[in-house]
Amino acid sequence: MWARIKFKILLSGGLLVLALASAAALQFFSPGAVCRMEDLTQVPDDTTFFPLAQPADTVTGKWVALTFDDGPSKNTEAILDILKEEQVPATFFVVAAENNEKYLPLLTRIQAEGHQIGLHSCTHKYSEVYADSTSFWADIKELKKRIAPYVEDPQALIWLRFIGGSTNTVSHKYGGSSIMKRLKAQAAEQGYHTIDWNVSAEDAVGGHPSAEKILHNITKDAKSKEICVVLMHDTKATRTTVEALPDIIAWFRDNGYQFCTVDTLPQTDAQK
Ligand SMILES: [Zn+2]
Repeated sequence: MWARIKFKILLSGGLLVLALASAAALQFFSPGAVCRMEDLTQVPDDTTFFPLAQPADTVTGKWVALTFDDGPSKNTEAILDILKEEQVPATFFVVAAENNEKYLPLLTRIQAEGHQIGLHSCTHKYSEVYADSTSFWADIKELKKRIAPYVEDPQALIWLRFIGGSTNTVSHKYGGSSIMKRLKAQAAEQGYHTIDWNVSAEDAVGGHPSAEKILHNITKDAKSKEICVVLMHDTKATRTTVEALPDIIAWFRDNGYQFCTVDTLPQTDAQK
């Protein structure tokens, strides 16, 4: 009897060690500070920018907002060079994690060249950011503090993109199933605008998709839409996004789109 109990204790002790070891391994191998494709919401909320509520004749022309999440990174300068060459504005939803700290001074160049900076997350760690609403707003506060030396006025940054998107479900296991709804309401109360996307480069998947594949992913989503908010990433792992960027810009230009930042997108009645 005692032997059996001892065996059980040993077995559960062993399982505990195994569980702790695999949790530690996950933590170690977790890419951190980036949006992984599998974490992103499957159905982004495009109601805030897709002008379904408007009569067709009140929105003129086709518009595209190019957006880059998770930077600045070692690829930001190359992105800025291309945008400058092409005279195209873009929006950067930034992070200020340990792995990109040295690139934060690039935020000054981003603003100086007429691009928009939006808030994404300080740590980009789902388990911390989405633990509860207090943790979420503490993370945003820390992000603003870390980027403050490099931006004109951190309090003027009122556009926010939730990590994983506003309808992500990864957050549920940390903050419960109503966490996103609560955070969206709190963001609106505080005067923030939140925005997802309706075109995805799918450039944050494993295996580093080629520039051709990224262009294909974008044009596949964009070709039926008058207003496009394009999700791309600016991390050390997304070099092929930079390679694809001139062709992405050329495609939108050839198809009659005008480029804008997120805060100058044609707005729905609800936003006015
Ligand atoms: Zn992200």
